[in-house]
Amino acid sequence: MATLNSDYLIIGNSAAGVTAAETIRAKDPYGTITLISREPHHVYGRPLISYLIEGKTTLDAMKFKPETFYEDHKITALLGDEFEALTLDPEAHEVGLKNGDSIGYGRCLLATGSVPFTPPIKGLQGKSNVFTFITLDDAEQAWAAAVEASLKASESGRCSRVVVIGSGLIGLKAAEALSHHLDEISVLELADRILPTVLDPEGSALLQRLLEPHGITCYPGLTADEVLGEGDQAVGVRLTNGECLDCDLIIAAVGVRPNSSLALEAGAQSGRGLIVDERLLTSLPDVYAAGDVVQVCDVLDGSEHPLALWPNAMHQGKIAGRQMAGDETALFHGSFAVNAVDFFDISLLTAGVINPREDMGCEIDIYAEDNSYAKFVKQDGKLIGYILLNRPQNAGIYTALIENGVDLDSLDQDIFLETPQNLDFDNEMRWERLHKFYPRDLDRRGWKEKI
Ligand SMILES: Cc1cc2nc3c(=O)[nH]c(=O)nc-3n(C[C@H](O)[C@H](O)[C@H](O)COP(=O)(O)OP(=O)(O)OC[C@H]3O[C@@H](n4cnc5c(N)ncnc54)[C@H](O)[C@@H]3O)c2cc1C
Repeated sequence: MATLNSDYLIIGNSAAGVTAAETIRAKDPYGTITLISREPHHVYGRPLISYLIEGKTTLDAMKFKPETFYEDHKITALLGDEFEALTLDPEAHEVGLKNGDSIGYGRCLLATGSVPFTPPIKGLQGKSNVFTFITLDDAEQAWAAAVEASLKASESGRCSRVVVIGSGLIGLKAAEALSHHLDEISVLELADRILPTVLDPEGSALLQRLLEPHGITCYPGLTADEVLGEGDQAVGVRLTNGECLDCDLIIAAVGVRPNSSLALEAGAQSGRGLIVDERLLTSLPDVYAAGDVVQVCDVLDGSEHPLALWPNAMHQGKIAGRQMAGDETALFHGSFAVNAVDFFDISLLTAGVINPREDMGCEIDIYAEDNSYAKFVKQDGKLIGYILLNRPQNAGIYTALIENGVDLDSLDQDIFLETPQNLDFDNEMRWERLHKFYPRDLDRRGWKEKI
C-alpha cells in the first residue's frame, strides 16, 4: 500500500475534471496535480460515443484534448479500474483507491459525473446482452453485440432487433447509432411522450413521426414489465400492456443519477445532487464538486436539479479550478439547460423552460409546420425558453436573449419569425451583438458610436 501526496486531487477525467486541471495549471505552475479515473481512456467526448458506432467519428477524433495533454500540463494521470476511488476521508484529506493505495490531497475535486439508473425490471439483471450507454466501453460492447446480432439474424433470414428502454437523449442517441446496424429499433417510454424532459407533447409527437422512416418505432406510455430470457440472453420484452417484443439486445437508458456515493459516504450534504456553494465547495472541507454530480439552481424557474450537460460540466470545472488555485473571484450563480442535438437529418435545439407551470403566467408562441416546430416561452416580456425542431435559425440569438434577460419590447417581434437583421435590434442590443466581434476595450474603430 503506497501513499501519494498531491496539492490538488481531481477525481474524474472528463469535461469537469480535465477543465479544472487545465485551469489550475494555468493559475498555479508549480502545485502538484493528480487526476484519477476508473475509465482507462484518454479524455474523450462522452456525447460522441453514439457517433463512433455510426461511423461518424473515430476514437482519435473523439479525444477531447491532445495526446500529450497530461504531460504538457504536468498532471499525474492515473487511469484505469484499479484507480477507482473507494473512500474519501475529509478529515485526513485522503482518498483510498481500489488497488489499496491512497492519495493525500490539499484540495480535492469530485468530478465523478453520472451513473446509469438501473430500472427494477424483472429479468433484466444478469443478462449478457443488456447494456447501458454511458461510457466508451458501454458503447463498444453494444456495438459488438449489434454487429454479431445482425450477422446471426441475416444467417437465419430474419430481422435483427434491439429494444431501447428509455427515450431520453441517451436512449434516442443509442437508438440512432444502432439503427445503422440493426433492422428494427423499438424505444419504450414510460411517460406519455418521448424526450419528456426536453420537449412538449406537440414537439414529441413530431419527433416520433420523423424518427419512424429511420426504422425507429417509439412506444410512449409503455415500458418493460419483464425481460424474457434464455439462459443469460435476453430474447424479448413483455410490455406493460401485455404485448411482447422480440429482441437480440437491450439498451437500458432510463436515466442517470449523480455519481455521489463517495461524497455521501464521507458525510457530504446532498439533494438531487451534491450541494455546493457559489465557490463549488461541498459541505466537506477542501472538497469541491463540478459537473453532473452537482445540484444546480436553474436561474429561470428556481428549481434545483443536476444539469447533466457537457458545457455545464466544463463551465463548473473552470470555476472550481480557479477557486481551488486560490482565485476567489470565480463564482457559480446557477445555469439553465441548453440542448443541441441532431438525430439523422432532424435538428433539435432547446433551451430554458419548455413546459412552464401554470402559476408562472407564461405567454407561449407556437410556429408549427408539417415537419418543423418552434415554441417560444415568454414571461414578463422576456424569453425564458424555446424549442426549435427542424428550424435551427437564430438559436444562438434566442439563447443570448434568455441568458441576458433581454426585454423583448426592445426588439422587432419579427425576430421570432425569420432571420433578423441587426436593424431589428435597438442600439444597445446591436452593440452587444457587434461586441462579440469587437470587444468593448478594443473599440478603436468607434463601432459603438456608429450604431
Ligand atoms: C450517450 C451520451 C450522450 C450525451 N450527449 C450529450 C449532448 O449531446 N450534449 C450535452 O451537453 N451533453 C451530453 N451528454 C452528457 C455529458 O456527456 C455529461 O454532462 C458530461 O460528460 C458530464 O461531465 P462530467 O465531467 O461531470 O462527468 P462524466 O463525463 O460522467 O465523467 C466522470 C468521470 O469520473 C470518473 N469516475 C467516476 N467515479 C469515479 C471513482 N469513484 N473513482 C475514479 N474515477 C471515477 C469516470 O471514470 C469519468 O472519468 C451525453 C451523455 C451521454 C452518456
